[in-house]
Amino acid sequence: MARIFHDEDAPLTALENKRVAVVGYGNQGRAWALNLRDSGVDVVVGTVADASRRAAEEDSFEAHEVAAAVRDADVVCLLIPDEVMGEAVAANIGSALKPGAAVVFASGYAVAFDEVSLPEGVDVVLVAPRMIGVGVRDCYVDGSGFIAFAGVERDVTGSAWPIALAVARAIGATKRGSVEMTFRQEAIIDLFVEQGIAPALQKVWRDAAMVLLEAGIPLEAILAEFYLSGEIERTYRAMREIGPTRQWQLHSQTSQYGTMSRADRYADVDLASNMRSTVAEIDSGAFAKEWAAERAAGYPRMTELRNADGRDQLMDFEDDVRTKFEARD
Ligand code: NDP
Repeated sequence: MARIFHDEDAPLTALENKRVAVVGYGNQGRAWALNLRDSGVDVVVGTVADASRRAAEEDSFEAHEVAAAVRDADVVCLLIPDEVMGEAVAANIGSALKPGAAVVFASGYAVAFDEVSLPEGVDVVLVAPRMIGVGVRDCYVDGSGFIAFAGVERDVTGSAWPIALAVARAIGATKRGSVEMTFRQEAIIDLFVEQGIAPALQKVWRDAAMVLLEAGIPLEAILAEFYLSGEIERTYRAMREIGPTRQWQLHSQTSQYGTMSRADRYADVDLASNMRSTVAEIDSGAFAKEWAAERAAGYPRMTELRNADGRDQLMDFEDDVRTKFEARD
């Protein structure tokens, strides 16, 4: 069983008299900086001098160039896009780090796939929220908290765990619980949801829409049923609140019988072999290499995939259907 850390396992004293630099003031950066400050932590923000810097200053943070913020910090939270992590650390972060500082990542990617090289004398820890940035802030403010994955890759000082847990607590990630994970495990699960589950679901929804259209059901009704009504969202919420098994009670007997009695029809569909290949590709670093090469080449495949999807027309169509279902006063 994985260890799960809660507030009582994560004293904030590990951050007493320490200065925390939040590098990057985007989705996660802003939420982390605000939560850390509201938890009584001394925060400085490091950004390139642009809109992010102005946003941090408007929120009354002391904001500096990245290297200047890092130089004075005991704890450095790298909240910049994973794809620029290696470059940014090599350019000005790595050399500015104090010996004995702790570097905190919100994602395992850059470390797991060797895209970043950090000086030897620093701790390397993971605090990876399972929550988008605005949610990190909202769940801190309303007191509900959120789940995160936490881990230690390198413990030079002997205090890497207390620091990781204190940061997790200060941003609100030990209220519901932070699960112990390695950087590689976090990267695998994170990428797997995107590469192993999302495309499979996409195929299910596409095939289902096609079959229902063939049966003469109007497209608007299909989209309402699939997601616009919010019914499935409610079912997911119920899974979280009362558990996947107990939420069955919220559905009619007909629904329960229909689902259970037809489940076997899909039992032999082999999803696992594709999923295993996906995990192997992620775990070996092959996907990370492919993605690095794609970026270096200026995103040719990404552009092709986006265009092939006919994304613009699809978005116009979706906007049109959504508008039709807006509540009228
Ligand atoms: P964003 O894209 O929202 O924010 C990036 C920030 O980094 C911006 O302030 C940007 O500045 C700045 N930045 C970009 N390039 C550089 C650079 N070379 N040097 C310094 N600053 C730079 O990122 P996210 O908040 O989405 O992601 C941050 C981390 O959090 C990642 O590791 C991600 O995997 C992780 N994470 C993200 C989640 C999410 O929901 N978004 C969920 C959980 C983890 P500017 O705007 O000026 O370019």
